[in-house]
Amino acid sequence: MAGILDGKAVAATIRAEVAEGVAELRERGIPVRLDVVLVGDDPASATYVRMKQRDCAEVGIESKAHRLLASTPQGELATLVEGLNAEAAVSGFFIQLPLPGGLDPLALISAIDPAKDVDGLSPLSAGRLAVGLPSLLPCTPHGVVQLLRRSGVEIEGREAVVIGRSNLVGKPLVQLLLRENATVTVCHSRTKDLPGVASRAELLIVAAGRREFVGAEYVREGAVVVDVGIHAREGGGLVGDVRFDEVEPRASYISPVPGGVGPMTRAMLLYNTLQAARAVGEVG
Ligand code: NAD
Repeated sequence: MAGILDGKAVAATIRAEVAEGVAELRERGIPVRLDVVLVGDDPASATYVRMKQRDCAEVGIESKAHRLLASTPQGELATLVEGLNAEAAVSGFFIQLPLPGGLDPLALISAIDPAKDVDGLSPLSAGRLAVGLPSLLPCTPHGVVQLLRRSGVEIEGREAVVIGRSNLVGKPLVQLLLRENATVTVCHSRTKDLPGVASRAELLIVAAGRREFVGAEYVREGAVVVDVGIHAREGGGLVGDVRFDEVEPRASYISPVPGGVGPMTRAMLLYNTLQAARAVGEVG
């Protein structure tokens, strides 16, 4: 039976560490505040923003949501981003994606000061990660690496296969695994013989956004399997990209959905906000 990579428990530990760090900064008079830009009325986005603000409240981070109409022009959003970059009280901020049609998310994200880029998704943050400069790290891939490390899974020197090459998950995950000295292969929708490549992995990380598509034939005996996927299950609940019941008997460790990468992603946003506030404290 595989060990469970318990993202819920590891995320709770990280939140407790963040709460301590936030309290220390407050004692030194350094504000810790996360702002979010929410454009339009997508109900899922509104729910995510509420969850993130609840998480902030739990660890003592102040938060503010800037809610704007879907019809808000690009220029007005660009001005808001500039204002948030300049506002000393704001430790970090992010733009909740997706944006309504007609807006250019990359142009806005590119304008975020890397010191405040708590999603870690701007081209500057991605570039800094790629060349080994300090940066705020994208929350989901950093959450995956923290989940592995804090569960005692060795990464260095191991054969890792990442399924997915998005800017949000797959590409930064490749960079982070390289930094941890894994030997990394990245697969995508045009990869030939995906089960053959995936089953070479000692660490298999699945972020393809395809409901329950990884079965036992993708998994080497004894592999560590991390499932990044999130899909609503018919009739309620969540499932991932991995067929858990089929894969679990072959794996040495596996992350569940829910309770795996999801809570880690949320915790790493809080961690980044603390990091951003700390950096200001160090400069001052
Ligand atoms: P995406 O759609 O942007 O990228 C998916 C990637 O998978 C692409 O690079 C594509 O080439 C690859 N892919 C698609 N089908 C494939 C196939 N059949 N074989 C091999 N590769 C294939 O998705 P994303 O934003 O990277 O997210 C991936 C999944 O992770 C989604 O289910 C998303 O909901 C989930 N997600 C979860 C969290 C979390 O906190 N747990 C955070 C972000 C994303």
